[in-house]
Amino acid sequence: MAKTEHPVKAVGWATRDPSGVLSPFKFSRRATGEHDIQFKVLYCGICHSDLHFCKNEWGFSQYPMVPGHEIVGVATEVGSKVEKVKVGDKVGVGCLVGSCRGCDMCSQDLENYCPKQILTYSAIDTDGTLTQGGYSNIMVADEHFVVRWPENLPMDIGAPLLCAGITTYSPLRYFGLDKPGVHVGIVGLGGLGHVGVKFAKAFGAKVTVISTSEGKRQEAIGKLGADGFLNSRDPEQLQAAAGTMDGIIDTVSAVHPIVPLINLLKPHGKIVMVGVPEKPLEFGTFPLIAGRKTMSGSAIGGLKETQEMIDFAAKHNVLPDVEIVPVDYVNTAMERLLKADVKYRFVIDIGNTLKSD
Ligand code: NAP
Ligand code: ZN
Repeated sequence: MAKTEHPVKAVGWATRDPSGVLSPFKFSRRATGEHDIQFKVLYCGICHSDLHFCKNEWGFSQYPMVPGHEIVGVATEVGSKVEKVKVGDKVGVGCLVGSCRGCDMCSQDLENYCPKQILTYSAIDTDGTLTQGGYSNIMVADEHFVVRWPENLPMDIGAPLLCAGITTYSPLRYFGLDKPGVHVGIVGLGGLGHVGVKFAKAFGAKVTVISTSEGKRQEAIGKLGADGFLNSRDPEQLQAAAGTMDGIIDTVSAVHPIVPLINLLKPHGKIVMVGVPEKPLEFGTFPLIAGRKTMSGSAIGGLKETQEMIDFAAKHNVLPDVEIVPVDYVNTAMERLLKADVKYRFVIDIGNTLKSD
């Protein structure tokens, strides 16, 4: 039986079962350890993973669950051995709060691929308690998993960078899609997708959005800076663009056809799956074989790269487009997220709307 009680009282919004319905919840956080940073949460983004998790769509959710892994706030207490920040500094926590710190992956700053990684919520922490995320008033984490927040980066609109940002930045970098002269396709113009467009443009790449929402065409090009837009429901548009892309980042959250996407790649092109639909996707091998193409996957990023990404975003003005909502709007936000009805990320104003009593 997991331990549940800690000394620091906290409040948040939690779901208790796969209905996914969130409501106010009292729980506790651990006392600040010598390597820990405790902080007051001010903003938290709503990632589609929160929705998958709340409804147990991946089959490993643990309840009660306070979701949220795009968490930004101000340090309120730091342990005696903390070097990274001091009380009053702005900080962020993304999808991870722990890893083994000694394996092959951890030693390469790839905590995101550590087999013993500890997710920010719905995971068992080293002390046996369930981790709880950022739809809450207070957070505590080991400083290794805390990001220093750049002074000039707004905390509200910047919050989604902690998951949506790193999840697109990391594969763009790793797969060489981060330079002028490459043509990148971004599939799904949601939270991840729209930040992916902005990073790819900041790297100087040519970017085409591949979307099911015709209504996003004008904004994708006019506001987000994409060079092109393909409606993935129109086979003729896809056919006309066949064989033109060096790489594709697929951020789609639901089951969708991928063969037409693979056909968009040039020979030796790469398609990187970052979206995690709840059911397996179907594809034949022919489109990969023809042109020696690669299909891969990518999960968030390590802590060093996450800091690098946040600093890059602050320097190059890569800012998410968000809709700031009060915490009691969260169930409606989840319903709208499911319908791809958000431009392009909900961020909860925790600091001003979550009552602490
Ligand atoms: P989101 O804001 O809901 O965006 C997903 C987009 O996918 C939608 O805006 C929509 O874009 C498109 N889409 C939705 N349903 C579709 C369908 N049935 N067919 C085709 N396209 C559809 O979600 P998100 O927060 O960006 O997250 C996207 C996915 O990435 C989720 O599965 C999430 O769990 C996963 N994720 C993975 C990682 C990782 O480390 N790999 C990290 C974070 C999130 P259009 O309207 O443009 O078609
Ligand atoms: Zn996320």
